[in-house]
Amino acid sequence: VGDRFEAGERVLLIDSRGRNYLITLSAGAAFHFHRGIVDHDHLIGAFDGARVTSTQGESLIALKPTLSEFVLKMPRGAQVVYPKDLAAILVQADIFPGARVIEAGAGSGALTIALLRAVGPDGYLTTYEVREDFAATARDNIEAFLGKVENLELKVADIYDGISEGEVDRVVLDLPEPWRAVAPAAEALREGGALAAYMPTVVQVQALAAALEDDIRWALVKTTETLVRSWHVRGRSVRPDHRMVAHTGFITTARRVAAD
Ligand code: SAH
Repeated sequence: VGDRFEAGERVLLIDSRGRNYLITLSAGAAFHFHRGIVDHDHLIGAFDGARVTSTQGESLIALKPTLSEFVLKMPRGAQVVYPKDLAAILVQADIFPGARVIEAGAGSGALTIALLRAVGPDGYLTTYEVREDFAATARDNIEAFLGKVENLELKVADIYDGISEGEVDRVVLDLPEPWRAVAPAAEALREGGALAAYMPTVVQVQALAAALEDDIRWALVKTTETLVRSWHVRGRSVRPDHRMVAHTGFITTARRVAAD
């Protein structure tokens, strides 16, 4: 027996074919799909992991979405960071409970959600987002998954113009020209702090790495790419799936060190 579903909450419904639907529970509402209807009132008060039956006899599993499930289903303005990369960023940027972190940009908020979870209630996240519309989408997504958050400041500002916070532990970048945020990040980070940037192309990696290598305040510049291959495991058919997400982005990390 786990948590019960409440009105206003997101619930993932999975049918017998494995298709999934993310719905928002609302008293009196109904979920319609090709195999019938499920009344939301049957789900409100039910337990996480419950099975429900549609009007056409289709059995569905109802689950609170995981972070990965949520970010792949949530409304997107900008492209989100995929779960495999969220995982890699959290460890490679060494995000820890209680950390003070700067992020840019917010985009759809996938990375913001992952960072907020990792810093926990004692940490603090400041996210720079240059576009007001993306900041609004990100906030909706963040609150839909985490509820009201007290330890996030979502600023509509251009991080290339500077970071007003100081003595922060970590800076995490997902924007088109991360090398333009290298000087602001060096100013904002405490010595021993860490930077991580996520970039879809090698041209970006090269420009960022050059900017970091050029500045004495940075050390341990490293770049990785994370490939995750899912497997089909059914009876004697045990093999990699035919399809995979082949390319998303590269992660470059560096440590902020003393200038002399
Ligand atoms: N990590 C996000 C996606 C970020 S997309 C997610 O997981 O959902 C890149 C975002 O950076 C866009 O929203 C864009 O508006 C923002 N951006 C671009 N340049 C910026 C800048 N100079 N300062 C702040 N945000 C910027």
